[in-house]
Amino acid sequence: MKIVYQNIHLPNSHTLAVYRANGGYQAVLKAIELGPDEVIEEVKRSGIRGRGGAGFPAGMKWSFIPKNDPRPRYLTCNADEGEPGTCKDRDIIRFDPHRLIEGMIICGFAVGIQQAYIYIRGEFYRETERLQAAIDDAYADGILGDNALGKGFKFHLAIHRGAGAYVCGEETGLIESIEGKKGQPRLKPPFPANIGLYGCPTVINNVETLASIPTIIEKGGAWYGGLGVAKSSGTKIFSVSGHVNKPGNYEVELGIPLKTLLEEHAGGVRGGWSNLKGVIPGGSSSPILPAEVCATITMDYDSMAKAGTMLGSGAVIVIDKSVCLVRAVARLSRFYRHESCGQCTPCREGTGWLAQIMTRMEAGQGTMEDIDLLQEICNNIGGKTICALGDAAAGPIMGALRSFKEEFIYHVEHGRCMAG
Ligand code: SF4
Repeated sequence: MKIVYQNIHLPNSHTLAVYRANGGYQAVLKAIELGPDEVIEEVKRSGIRGRGGAGFPAGMKWSFIPKNDPRPRYLTCNADEGEPGTCKDRDIIRFDPHRLIEGMIICGFAVGIQQAYIYIRGEFYRETERLQAAIDDAYADGILGDNALGKGFKFHLAIHRGAGAYVCGEETGLIESIEGKKGQPRLKPPFPANIGLYGCPTVINNVETLASIPTIIEKGGAWYGGLGVAKSSGTKIFSVSGHVNKPGNYEVELGIPLKTLLEEHAGGVRGGWSNLKGVIPGGSSSPILPAEVCATITMDYDSMAKAGTMLGSGAVIVIDKSVCLVRAVARLSRFYRHESCGQCTPCREGTGWLAQIMTRMEAGQGTMEDIDLLQEICNNIGGKTICALGDAAAGPIMGALRSFKEEFIYHVEHGRCMAG
């Protein structure tokens, strides 16, 4: 079942002509007939949860925007896609930008928004060009503008390019960045639904979430809610990377067994299933699952939470037995140290200490005390910072210590990794 990627394999799928020829911009007309309140209800009925990582229900987010508030409202699409392992949104933008634009117009119509932004990662240079061309075509065609689709409502859309900071994928860091400031996350509350961009009510949704909206409106929230499993409805694009024979983006129904995703869609684990060491299931910040759990777990929000990890952005990083987990985690800890915005002490200092300890552990100079120290630092970061980057930095280490502690001990005792 393809919802977001349904046109992606068509020639010139990025063009307005192909999008229209395949039913594009019909859902927004249906949305206008339904009216704003019913559109929000349909999105709530669909049960779609934010596909960027946090998994917050999108319909609820839209309904939090205060009614009868004289301030302008904004919609911001998060196209920062900075979570290591994630590469799905860029394909939506590259191959079907009008689906995203239509989803944004529907949201704007439902919530009463006249100005929207797409905050795109600066490195997505070609994607930005393609997106801008699609926006230009939509303006030329009267889809965007003061009289959007000729239906008497105003909807403008502009691109804002980021500068490649991971923390700008956090919604308030993103807002600060659009406002021209350093992309440092804000303390919450207040939440963006009340005080967001320029101090006004703001909806922030991920690319995949917004690109799912046209089909939800076209086929109905109840239809969409029937896909997937309870509390994890619909489809999700999983970016499968690492040691599989066919890495790539796969759109499947939520609740699919991880083993089916890897073996039937991604070509199987390199060297066979028995060669699997573990899987990072939802982007680099999600704790790794050992192979025995991977054999039975399903890809939905609740199952992942029960297993002590996250579905996150859906970036599935497959790790076979050739990998030294200590080395892999050390690499990640240096990434998080680099990306900390430095605003709060547990993250600023803690990510640095984690990276230092992991680096010496990797070099064979760690001690048994370091293993306890890693755990203690992680405990002191988790939940004590302004944004989730602190937890993200602790996640990979805590996951590795939970399931692969023997590798850390081997490093200390032998000064090298088990994988040879
Ligand atoms: Fe900045 Fe880290 Fe604090 Fe987030 S947790 S605000 S990245 S210092």
